[in-house]
Amino acid sequence: MAVRGLRAGLWAVRPRGTGCAAGLRSDSEPSEPGPQPAGPATAALYVHWPYCRKHCSYCSFNKYVVPAVDEAAVRACLVRETQTLLRLGHVRSVTSVFFGGGTPSLAAPHTIAAVLEAAAEVAHLPAGAEVTLEANPGSADPTRLSGFKAAGVNRLSLGVQSLDDAELRLLGREHTAAEARAAVEAARKLFPGRTSLDLIFGLPGQSREAWARNLEAAQGLCDDHLALYQLTLERGTALEAQVRRGVLPEPPEELLADLYLSARATLAAAGFHQYEVSNFARKVSTSTLCPQVRRSPSSPTTPLSYRAPAAPTTSPTGGPSSSWAWGRGHTAASCRGERAAACARHACRRRILTRGCGRLQEVLALGLRTDEGVTQQRWGFFSPRLSLEDAFGAPGEARELQERGWLRLNGRALRCTPAGLPLLDSLLPALLCQLRRRWNAVEEEDGGGRASR
Ligand code: SF4
Repeated sequence: MAVRGLRAGLWAVRPRGTGCAAGLRSDSEPSEPGPQPAGPATAALYVHWPYCRKHCSYCSFNKYVVPAVDEAAVRACLVRETQTLLRLGHVRSVTSVFFGGGTPSLAAPHTIAAVLEAAAEVAHLPAGAEVTLEANPGSADPTRLSGFKAAGVNRLSLGVQSLDDAELRLLGREHTAAEARAAVEAARKLFPGRTSLDLIFGLPGQSREAWARNLEAAQGLCDDHLALYQLTLERGTALEAQVRRGVLPEPPEELLADLYLSARATLAAAGFHQYEVSNFARKVSTSTLCPQVRRSPSSPTTPLSYRAPAAPTTSPTGGPSSSWAWGRGHTAASCRGERAAACARHACRRRILTRGCGRLQEVLALGLRTDEGVTQQRWGFFSPRLSLEDAFGAPGEARELQERGWLRLNGRALRCTPAGLPLLDSLLPALLCQLRRRWNAVEEEDGGGRASR
């Protein structure tokens, strides 16, 4: 229901949808081979509802538009997989839960409740844990929203996308601007201070004025949290085909940059704090589940993904980094996912080990999306032997980016400046290359080849 792009994309950071599945990010996964982390395991849980009522014209996610969903079967799968993954991860405490999709607001509230109860049966789910549900205005009437609240949801992310009917039609959304307004108003009553609106900008033909009107209207409605996503014209979508055939104009790059920068300035003037590339909050409405937002080194997770970062431990083969992580790839097709969950207790198809430089590259790419950047503390947690200064302080690409005013490295963190943040996608390749070179140099000093890749 929300805008998505590649996981490392500049604007959109959510993972592509998978089949019906629960995903987990934990700070340990002792059931996997390799070194075992110490201490209690916490995890952020992502639960995917892959069904939608219709195809939006820009959407390339893995979602299913089916005449009828066998909700009892899906619920059973989600419950089973949630419990299996929590057990496999030896998770003792779930810090937050995110129901994403697809359109999870199409699920019955008692399905949401069942998943939360299932999680609470095998792990501690604190009363104050953030539980977010993505909702589409077309399935967010007050009765449903009350049901979700009673089920345990305490934060709503509404896929408004636009408050202009012509734009909504272009996007193939099923709701109107009036329905979106009604949904936001209902949500704010039930989830005061914890309602977020998703908006898309960069639509074919969208003018600066139209975007400014949208943003102004959203500010008038919103409950202190806005997520702005640049439209990605994904191959295989109806919208991309129309642009490719010349039926619709392709938005020029300069205009896209303008739309983003003007929105950022407008929101800053209105008291919003940009705490992540796409996310803006006023007062204290930052989401603990906002992609990539992690403040504590003891919670080195980045949610909304099916990777499970491990707590630092001794690397199996030595080397400059002591961090490793097991990731899980889920079955893509909903039916296969359900079958796999029914047969094998979870829909994981493969496991992926990330460690060494690959792990640090992930920490870098995700950390730079946030306002605080990659803190010294966090980097040291993952990389006790290759410091931020050693990796990025010496002459090289990172130094050049600092001199151009796009990057800042100090005793606190490596982070993008406000001018550099919109350019992050362009800056990252050079930084990743530099990190790789420094990593290899440390490996060579260590005797070569002992550290894992
Ligand atoms: S609601 Fe639209 S954008 Fe969201 S997953 Fe469904 S089809 Fe895609």
